[in-house]
Order: sequence, then structure tokens, then C-alpha cells
Amino acid sequence: MLSFEGRLKKAVTLLKSSKNITAFTGAGISTESGISDFRSKGGVWDRYRIVTYQEFIASHDARVEYWNMKKELYREIKDAKPNRAHMALANLENMGKLKCLITQNIDGLHQDSGSSNVIELHGTNRKAVCLECGKLWPIEEVQKWLESGEIDPSCDTCNGYVKPATISFGQSMPEAEMIRAFQCVSSCDLLLMIGSSLQVEPAASIPREAHSKGARLIYINRTVTPTDNLADVCFRENASQVLDELLILLKSGINTT
Ligand SMILES: [Zn+2]
Repeated sequence: MLSFEGRLKKAVTLLKSSKNITAFTGAGISTESGISDFRSKGGVWDRYRIVTYQEFIASHDARVEYWNMKKELYREIKDAKPNRAHMALANLENMGKLKCLITQNIDGLHQDSGSSNVIELHGTNRKAVCLECGKLWPIEEVQKWLESGEIDPSCDTCNGYVKPATISFGQSMPEAEMIRAFQCVSSCDLLLMIGSSLQVEPAASIPREAHSKGARLIYINRTVTPTDNLADVCFRENASQVLDELLILLKSGINTT
């Protein structure tokens, strides 16, 4: 593997020559904002059982259990702020280079950092939705209901079940978002993969799709992924550090060839 400087130079050369960048982000980009990966030890996910969508629909007890977990998770993440990696991607969008940002995260931090063209494949934790009529609430409002003793919130219009507007285990991926995401991936000239171990679909297919259409690939992830061999450059360093350095080099116009 090249030195860190060597890889930065290679990556910035790719960024400079690209006009249509798509970024794909996973949990790894938000860990530096204090949001733990649901797979990590000691996190909220470690203390609660996973409640599937089917269980949520079928059982009052499962809904109570699910909302208990969400109540605790909310307290943990409500003050999270975007970090320098989020800011760098917003910056790339402002520069007109990044056209599309696909995320598996539900934390809303990309929007907080100023990114506007965000596709949320797993929905958002910032809203709650009525599963019957589709009515939406800011999550803060539903959290207030929970804090005041509600344990299985229902819709004030149709009495349907209210659930965070995220895609739960057992729930299918949102079709419109998936189509838009794959359109971006198929048409980009550079794909930035950040903070995803690329073990599960659709994350696993995204680099393959981009690569098959001739895009260049930059990976920024702490661990090895199954498709590292497709990447032009791989970084194991922190996403914020790598993206910060890349932005500085890109803006400084230093000749890196
Ligand atoms: Zn409703």
C-alpha cells in the first residue's frame, strides 16, 4: 500500500478530474459524531433485542419494546453534530463536484452539515410516521408523548400505529430511493465509499455497479471490505482526517500529478 501522502495525492487527482461524484456513506462516518454503529459493543443496540417490522405490526409488547429502545437512542443522539467528514461532503457539493449523496444513516447529519441532494436508503430517525395514513411528525413531538407516559403511540387522526420513519429489519427498501440511488451510481464518474463495511445489500452491489460502468472508486473505511480490489485508492484512516486533507489539497490547486 502507498504511504498516506501517496494515497492522498492519487485520490485528489481523481477528485480533480471528476465532474459527477456520487458518495455512499454508512455508520462509520457518524461514529466521530458520537453515534455508535449498531453493531458495536455497548451501544443501545447491544442492550435491546432487534424488533422486526412484522413483530411491530403484530404485537403491542413489541411496539412498547421498540419505542423504549428509540427513547433511549434519542437521548443518546439528539445533540449529535455533523463532523468534518460530513462538512467535507457538503463542501464538495457546493463546489459542484458531488452530485449525489446516498446514505444508510438515519441520523440526518448530512442535511445538518448543508448537503441537499441526500438519498436516505434506511429512512430517517428525525420523523415519525403513521403506518396507516402516512401522517408525519417531527420525532421531537413523539418523544414528548413518550416522556409524558405514552408507551405505544398511535395516530391522532386515524388511530394507526406510529413508528419512526426508518426502514426496520424485515421491511423492504424504499423503491423510489433505491431507483434514484442506482441511477446516480450508474452514471457517476467517481464513487466515494465512506464508512461502510459493504457486507450487506445494497451496499455490497453499489461499488460493483459503479465499477462496471467505468467509474473510479475511492474507499474510506476502517476495515477491509469484500471489494477493496475494485478501489483505485483505499484509506483506513479516519474519514474526517482523510476528507479534510483531500479538500485542502483540492482547493489549494497544488499540482499532484
Ligand atoms: Zn394515521
